Amino acid sequence: MKSPRKVLMVAPLIFLLTVHTSASPAYDDQPSTRHSNGHVCIGCVLVVSMIEQLVQVHNSTVQTSMERLCSYLPEKLFLKTTCYVVVRMFGPDIIKLLEAKLNADVVCHTLKFCKQDPGQPLCHLYPLPKEAWKFTLTKARQIVKKSPTLTYSRSDSDICSLPFLAKICQKIKLAIENSLPFKDTDSDKYSVFPTLRGYHWRGRDCNDNDKMVYPGRRPDSWDVHQDSNCNGIWGVDPKDGIPYEKKFCEGSQPRGIILLGDSAGAHFHIPPEWITASQMSLKSFFNLPAALTDELNWPQLSGATGFLNSTSGLKENSIYLRLRKRNRCNHRDYQNISRNGASSQNLESFIESLSRNQLLDHPAIVIYAMIGNDVCNGKTNPVPAMTTPEKLFSKVMQTLQYLDSHLPNGSHVILFGLPDGTFLWDNLHNRYHPLGQLNKDVTYEHFYSFLNCLQVSPCHGWMSSNRTLRTLTSERAEQLSSTLKRIATSQKFANFNLFYMDFDFREIMEEWRKRGGQPWQLIEPVDGFHPNEVALQLLADGFWKKAQLQWPQVLGKENPFNHQIEQVFGDQGGH
Ligand code: CA
Repeated sequence: MKSPRKVLMVAPLIFLLTVHTSASPAYDDQPSTRHSNGHVCIGCVLVVSMIEQLVQVHNSTVQTSMERLCSYLPEKLFLKTTCYVVVRMFGPDIIKLLEAKLNADVVCHTLKFCKQDPGQPLCHLYPLPKEAWKFTLTKARQIVKKSPTLTYSRSDSDICSLPFLAKICQKIKLAIENSLPFKDTDSDKYSVFPTLRGYHWRGRDCNDNDKMVYPGRRPDSWDVHQDSNCNGIWGVDPKDGIPYEKKFCEGSQPRGIILLGDSAGAHFHIPPEWITASQMSLKSFFNLPAALTDELNWPQLSGATGFLNSTSGLKENSIYLRLRKRNRCNHRDYQNISRNGASSQNLESFIESLSRNQLLDHPAIVIYAMIGNDVCNGKTNPVPAMTTPEKLFSKVMQTLQYLDSHLPNGSHVILFGLPDGTFLWDNLHNRYHPLGQLNKDVTYEHFYSFLNCLQVSPCHGWMSSNRTLRTLTSERAEQLSSTLKRIATSQKFANFNLFYMDFDFREIMEEWRKRGGQPWQLIEPVDGFHPNEVALQLLADGFWKKAQLQWPQVLGKENPFNHQIEQVFGDQGGH
């Protein structure tokens, strides 16, 4: 039996996303003045779609589906509680609307999570109802009018302004703010806690009580008494009385890896299991709390600084793991200084979270990879908001001057160019989005157009059916890449060598094809935008091979003592 089509699922999921992003507005993919309405609308459509599809998959009632969805959510971060609160508040209306065979778009417009502003187009994810939209909406409103639960009035879209949610919002915001990592001294930036900018993002601290102990520093008195740089190497060889750090690391030219990046560098990832009703189970959301406290990023699996083995089955490793393998003295020396929404223009607002002491620390390889947000935005007309080559030049020069005054002498900086994002549309537009797979009703073309309509697309310029716009976006990206290249070939700095590398996505697709893969398998399925884990690993591989060939001095020497270090210190204390 075919029951009503979509529905969504987890109000709380999106609700939390909303709360969460509003806790760190400066780095959201979109300036905060922009359409917070749009995010709430997407959240509603997503959650209602999940409920509707769970009804269909389990042939159950709407009530049961909502309860099922809440039961899948973890207790942490009030996720389950919030879900039940939301169900109690909106459940009765959602039940009536879905039982009347109305879809998620209609439900969310009726409940005013989505709104059509005067003079603005109607934003919808699913095909429009057969009857006129106005007629359908009027019908839907009559259905909920009879409902005694519709007592709330929502004049704005801030879900936290709802009285029954305000308290929970407050608690979550406080929890997030209290644990935000920006502190005074460099060594306080290292943590023994994984998320909230902890060791998922930069090498785990090995002595939280001592400010002079942190990954990346030159060893203090050859680490005879303690592991001052957290690389797991310390003490004295009883056979000859030589400190191990001296014996194994002296002259090995240790170095750290630091990424200045955006959401791609931080590995933004929404697991498709979270929004796929047919695969949803108790196991689906176990990683949701950690992901939320990492801003939906998974830097521990990123191409530059990932330290966990890839979940993709690829044998390639991150740049950090390769540097560590090359010289075990580099253990734990990684920093992922990336933000969602970061670009050349806003890097200055968080570059101070980079930790490197010019006098005390080892040199570093710094990768500058702002690969999209200078041309990507969600505006109706995205072109005027793109960074111009002149603006790029001036901000990048500022960044480089900052680095010159903070990096130890002998460091290396690599500027990454921007990719040509036309592969997104070319490879995805006629494929089904995870929300559209069950009923074959939402392609990426629909999904992109919904995001553009709400003005919340991460990249209107490339995620668009308008070929001219896609071409313009690629042209600007190319101009910006040329500017970066020009900077790298013309500018000199005292404390680092400067290089430029193309971000050639075609090369990565070619490599993937050779292994029997398809290009669409390299893109995050839920957002239809970010490079996924496989793409990031292939990109890291490309970087490594080119650096080895062209600039081997950047990677340093192979340490002949690696094997002995492993024999004496095992895994060196893990990550
Ligand atoms: Ca050490």
